[in-house]
Amino acid sequence: MSNYNAFDNFLKTFNKAADCLDLNENDRVKLSMPERQVQVYITVRMDDGSYKTFEGYRVQHNSFRGPYKGGLRYHQQADINEVRALAALMSIKCAVADIPYGGGKGGIKVDPTTLSEGELERLTRAYVDAIYPVIGPSVDIPAPDVNTNGKIMGWFCDEYSKLAHGFTPAVVTGKPLLIGGSKGREEATGLGVVIAAKTMLNNYGVELKGKRVAVQGNGNVGSVASKYFCKEGAVLVAASDVSGAVFNPNGLDGELLRKMAVERVLLSEYPPSIGTTFIAGKEGNAALITCETDVLVPAALENQIDKDNASDVKAKYIVEAANGPTTAEADEILADKGVIIVPDILANCGGVVVSYFEWVQNLDRYYLSEEEINDRLKRKMTDAVQKVYNTAKQFGVSLRLGAYVNAVKEIDESGKLLGR
Ligand code: NAD
Repeated sequence: MSNYNAFDNFLKTFNKAADCLDLNENDRVKLSMPERQVQVYITVRMDDGSYKTFEGYRVQHNSFRGPYKGGLRYHQQADINEVRALAALMSIKCAVADIPYGGGKGGIKVDPTTLSEGELERLTRAYVDAIYPVIGPSVDIPAPDVNTNGKIMGWFCDEYSKLAHGFTPAVVTGKPLLIGGSKGREEATGLGVVIAAKTMLNNYGVELKGKRVAVQGNGNVGSVASKYFCKEGAVLVAASDVSGAVFNPNGLDGELLRKMAVERVLLSEYPPSIGTTFIAGKEGNAALITCETDVLVPAALENQIDKDNASDVKAKYIVEAANGPTTAEADEILADKGVIIVPDILANCGGVVVSYFEWVQNLDRYYLSEEEINDRLKRKMTDAVQKVYNTAKQFGVSLRLGAYVNAVKEIDESGKLLGR
């Protein structure tokens, strides 16, 4: 039951949004509970000739706005409660981003580092065989998540295509470019974070240019965000990863941070220069959260800003690049301090937006340039930010609750138009 809180947390915010919209009890149950939960036991032949059975899940939360969409994670602690909460968040995120999908999520309880590549491939193919009856390009479209990647999506696409008797790239997104992936997907989430930050700050009469920014996590999302924050003229005063945090009040080099992430070089190797300091490990990451900055961008893990450090946060704006980096208690402390939080379901939705473009390109069999993708991403992100800002203002609530209100309203109205 360790992950039960994740769905409980979703329900808390969902119910606040339902209060704003005056939804009745039946509508609340209909819109918050999953439409379908599939639990499978898949048996895989291991390299040594033995057989091992793994537990897997696919939760399909809501389909009023379109097919279910959401990642597939491989993790030893994956369980049905966690997957259910993540599926619900995808329903909200897709509605906030205004892409025509509902929400879903999948998982297999496995530590993938203990499997050989062959075992991983057989596990993936067996999972596709098991959930084949409930997925498809117009039904449910998975994507990579924790510990899954483009290569695994390639196997997924191949196994489904064999069962469907035809090449079906639109059944899964996050594929490598050569087999139907989209240009721009790799940078989409990080670029989207910067577009969201810039657009939202403008709403408060603040220019991103010249503002101090601190980014926790130098991975896929954080390093791309750092690169684009610098391109926008912000001063990157701190960046971190699992090795620690590097600080420079005059600004770090965003291009270099991205290069280090791509080449998997840790920030403990960041070249020393005048004004640069490095603080190793957890201590460095704790210092980053409370450092002197205008904008704080948690882009690593969940629960990084909690009741113990929230009151020491100096940033006026937090842009949640990671999923769930702020605990519910910290959210309240920060709200009392007047800190403005651009919530994860808005700030990091660039990834699923470009996944949607990938699916559209697969269905059309026509592929767009990176420039075209980024233009469309910019338009989607800007529109989503404006809509959330306006709703939050209209109801006098936080941006997080404003995003939920928008999403729940659209899902509810779509359901009613379908007669559901
Ligand atoms: P990643 O694995 O590429 O990068 C994670 C980074 O965090 C690494 O730099 C790692 O060193 C650092 N890190 C790990 N443990 C840390 C710790 N204890 N303290 C500080 N730093 C630590 O992951 P990613 O794809 O960049 O994802 C980051 C976050 O963004 C996750 O919450 C993820 O769910 C979310 N997200 C990612 C995408 C996407 O498209 N990749 C989309 C939406 C949301």
